[in-house]
Amino acid sequence: MAEPIGQKQKDLRSDVVIVGGGFAGLLTALKLHATKPDRHIIVVDAADKLAGHQTWFFHESELSNSESLSWLSPLIDKEWTECSYQFPRLASTRQGRCFAIRSEDLRRVAKERLGDDIYVNSPVTRLSESHVELENGRIIAARCVLDASGAQSPDNNPESPEQENATGTLAGYQKSITLEVELESAHGLTAPVMIDATCPQLDGLRYYQLLPWSEKRLQVSEIYYSDTPEINRERICRSIRSFINRKGWVIKKETREEARAIPLPLTSTYLTASVGGEALPIGRYGGYFHATLGSSVAETVRIAEFLATLEDLTTQSARDGLLRMRRPWLRRQRFYRLINRWLFYAAEPTLRYAVLQKIFEQREDVIQRFVSGQTTFIDRFRLLKVRPAVPLERVLRSLSEKTLVSWTEARAQKPAESVVPPETTSSLDRAS
Ligand SMILES: Cc1cc2nc3c(=O)[nH]c(=O)nc-3n(C[C@H](O)[C@H](O)[C@H](O)COP(=O)(O)OP(=O)(O)OC[C@H]3O[C@@H](n4cnc5c(N)ncnc54)[C@H](O)[C@@H]3O)c2cc1C
Repeated sequence: MAEPIGQKQKDLRSDVVIVGGGFAGLLTALKLHATKPDRHIIVVDAADKLAGHQTWFFHESELSNSESLSWLSPLIDKEWTECSYQFPRLASTRQGRCFAIRSEDLRRVAKERLGDDIYVNSPVTRLSESHVELENGRIIAARCVLDASGAQSPDNNPESPEQENATGTLAGYQKSITLEVELESAHGLTAPVMIDATCPQLDGLRYYQLLPWSEKRLQVSEIYYSDTPEINRERICRSIRSFINRKGWVIKKETREEARAIPLPLTSTYLTASVGGEALPIGRYGGYFHATLGSSVAETVRIAEFLATLEDLTTQSARDGLLRMRRPWLRRQRFYRLINRWLFYAAEPTLRYAVLQKIFEQREDVIQRFVSGQTTFIDRFRLLKVRPAVPLERVLRSLSEKTLVSWTEARAQKPAESVVPPETTSSLDRAS
């Protein structure tokens, strides 16, 4: 992989420059390269390693294009044919292919295809629709500039990228620790357990997710829908180990650990405006993720495929096209933010699981559309009708984004203790 762009290198020129070699940046670069191999694409990343230490899980049904799997297949590490969900009053198995992509494979394939056009340790400090400026003063000019810098965009507060104030977003947090382990003997699982929320509830909604990589290799995540982004690493790792013990499995070796805390928005304030003259935001920075589930694979794939169809790819042509694509997607995200307000504002933290349980009690096609961010108008009625154990008064208050937005604005202007939250006993109260 290329070194940081140093002073000795001349300013660069390219067809496309992508800021951020995370999931969205690399996937988009690979798709653009696959469609037109002679297109010159440069990817620049601030970190010393691309794509971190992550696993991206997705269902085949999330992909809107049946051809997508053919170009994604070199990235896929594991495939399963079903997965299961367990809640206190619900246990279900969903049929259908699902897959996992891992950082290692994404990095390997990106290096094979893009070679020396990937630059690590190269933080971008300024970007426009035609240029990118690196910390060391070097400039890269390109016809198309895509900003895939994730939640840690230079436009956000670099001091605390995951904090509520960094994005100006009123948010809850999906946070987790993942341990990958090798066991002494076979675990017996043949399919992923996507949600096991049968454990005691604490710090909001709490559940385990299990991905069986092989007979004895297993990935276990402990996931929270919490009011705060703080992760008590030691406590959660201990808790995962005792969960594994309770299952009767013995850990031989821990092979990997990953942590995440991503904001899940309650209002639309998190959406980055795409403005002429600026680079085009994509990936998480562009707000292209499922507001309730935090997932972004399906939307990232769709956008990469769309950009690859543009004959004359410039920042402006990409922006014009994406703005049209974005409208129906934005409409659907409004509903998922409402679900978030139920989860983080209306529901008592220990009863948050009941909101998701109600969703996963629905008919298979409704669940499928919910997971893939394609919930229809009729689905919304179904889901709203089965309102879980949440006080009606709070549900009604949470219907409006405005109350929460004005509260956030008031809080930003005044010292925290002098701002009265909209619902004094809500979970947001505790978050502040
Ligand atoms: C641990 C974890 C697991 C996840 N699992 C799933 C999953 O299973 N399924 C799913 O659909 N979603 C999942 N998500 C959610 C979502 O898919 C990821 O957040 C996804 O990685 C977002 O992709 P991105 O490229 O937009 O941002 P990122 O992957 O965060 O990439 C941003 C990149 O930009 C770089 N960067 C930032 N600032 C600069 C700068 N100034 N200059 C240069 N480079 C910069 C960063 O170093 C980083 O490499 C997961 C998220 C996390 C954190």
